[in-house]
This record gives sequence, C-alpha cells and structure tokens, in this order.
Amino acid sequence: AIAALALTGCGRADNSGSGSSSGASGFPQNSDIGVALPQKTSENWVLAEKLFNDGLNGAGFKADVQFANGGVSEQQNQISAMITKGAKVIIVGAIDGAQLGTQLKQAKDSGATVIAYDRLLLNTPDVDYYVAYDNYKVGVLQGQALLDGLKSKKPNGPYNIELFAGSPDDANAKVFFDGAMSVLQPKIDDKTLNVVSGQKSFEQAVTQGWKAENAQKRMDTLLAGSYTSASLDGVLSPNDTLARAILTSVKAAGKPLPIVTGQDSEVESVKSILAGEQYSTINKDTRKLVEHAITMVKDLQAGKTPEINDDKSYNNKVKTVPAYLLPPVIVTKDNVKTAYVDDPILGPITK
Ligand code: BGC
Repeated sequence: AIAALALTGCGRADNSGSGSSSGASGFPQNSDIGVALPQKTSENWVLAEKLFNDGLNGAGFKADVQFANGGVSEQQNQISAMITKGAKVIIVGAIDGAQLGTQLKQAKDSGATVIAYDRLLLNTPDVDYYVAYDNYKVGVLQGQALLDGLKSKKPNGPYNIELFAGSPDDANAKVFFDGAMSVLQPKIDDKTLNVVSGQKSFEQAVTQGWKAENAQKRMDTLLAGSYTSASLDGVLSPNDTLARAILTSVKAAGKPLPIVTGQDSEVESVKSILAGEQYSTINKDTRKLVEHAITMVKDLQAGKTPEINDDKSYNNKVKTVPAYLLPPVIVTKDNVKTAYVDDPILGPITK
C-alpha cells in the first residue's frame, strides 16, 4: 500500500536515487548513541525521549537524547557534540531537515551511521536510513477523513472548507499537505469543496513552528473574513495540537463545529473524538517507531545491514533514502474504542 506513486514535491519522489547503505562493521555494545530530537511540538516527541532513553540504555548502549527547544543552531551544536563524544549512530528528528548538512557530513566522516527519524533529512547525501510512519499516506488518510466526515453530516456538497498545514521548516509538513491534496484537489476542481478564503496553497496554509496560537489566530482571521454569513463545514488540520486550536477558535466565535482532522492520537484529542468534537486523528504508535529505530541500532552494532521495506518513495533531493515505513491508521468515533487496546495511556481512556 505504501509508495509506488509517482509524485513530485519535497520528500516524496521518483525512483532516481541509489539506496546505498552504510558499510556496517559493528561497534562495541556500550557505545554512545545520539538522538537529536526537535522541539516538544507534540506529545509524540516527548514520549520518544523516554522510549529512546529506556530502550537504548536497556539494550546496553549509552543513550544521549537531546531536545533542541532553542532552535536549529542548538540542534546543530548538539549533533556536533554527539560526534565529538564518539557516537556510533546518530538518530535525528530534525527541526529543519535542510539545515544540518555540515553536521551530518561531520558525522559520516567520523564513521557514524545517520538515521533520519520521523522527518526526512533534506539536500544531503549523508543520511543512511529513514524510519517513519508513511507521511504521504498520513496526508491521504486525512484528506479522505475530511471528505468522509463532511458526507456523514450531509450527503451532498458543496461544502465550505479551510486548509491548514504544518510548519514549513519541517520536511513532513509539505508531504502531509500533498497527500491530503491528492484527495481534496479533484473535489475542489469539481466544486464539491469550496475553500471560501481562497487560501489553497501550502504557503498560505502553513502554521509556523506547529504552534497552536498561530493556527488559532489564522482561524480567527478566516472566520472573521470569510464566514460572517457562510457556514464552515470542514477544516483540514495536519495534527491534533492544531485541530484543538482550530476548534477553540470556532467555539470562541460561537459557530457550529466543523469536521476537523488531526494526527498523533494526543490524549486531549482522543477525548475530543469520544465527545464527538474533533472528527479524526491518526494512530502512529510512537513505541513501534522508536522500537524500530533501536532495532536498526542493534543491527548496526552487530555489523548487520538494517532491514528496510522501501527504497523508492522518499527522495531528499540528493538521494532516495532507504526507508523502513510503518503504516499509519485513521481513527474516528467509529473505531476509537478498538484502536488503542494495546496502548497503556489511551487504552484505559477509550475503554
Ligand atoms: C510529526 C507529527 C507531529 C508534528 C509536530 C511532525 O514531523 O510527524 O507527528 O504532529 O511533527 O510535532
């Protein structure tokens, strides 16, 4: 189900690259493993920190897990420090995947293996593997959920909608948007969907820094500018944090709640789905993603080539990065009670 789509645009690509792998020859079990995480813009990143620390240390490695709440230069410095300490593998969840070229080259020159985690590293040959949920598929599921939700409210359009995208420095944001638009654009073209504000491009839809306040402000402006008489039927939101900000804005304006999509299965959004407010989220179990990244580290430690399951979908403009992609799952009120049975946090909430 993954890939094989000939798509253009950042992150998703034709089959032009090489799919090289690192010349793995193993390294001592107690080596340093660096994990450079971005800002705490959603719950998944906070959870990843604990899971990487527990999982790597539990397997006998020395975990060095860092957040870069201060921004890109802090993340660059953290990666340089990991290299200086002799990290054998550097796992990167980039703030801005296009701004780490110098550090990644240093990492490769030092003999480390570089794994892009969740977000692709762009414009560089110095990334060995990518481990992520299939982000384009996430976008497709969001676009489809928006359409399904609209139809569940009234069977026929036209429907008035607005579009939100994530932070433009995050390589994933455009991939999510392109995936969603692959479903929505034909429906905009045939006039089933009407973007009343006219703001249809990625650049117009972005939310700097994935910040809730930025999404809320933009929704306030859209409501005041385009929905004084028109009704708002649906909003494409790329994640749960922004979905809740959009719903807050609509509530403050005293309007009926539109169909709003999301992603990440954040606790408050899962509760909102149960309460019939937010329409959908995406289940991308962080435990499975971290587990797979750690499996890659274990393979590299043992001198084995890590398993990949996709060598054609994610091109970073220099190479197609060998990837291990996990399948995202859409969650709505229909399956919210069964979607999280194995989840220690969400399971009890949805029972
Ligand atoms: C992740 C999303 C998350 C967003 C904001 C993205 O790169 O893939 O799961 O919602 O960052 O933190």
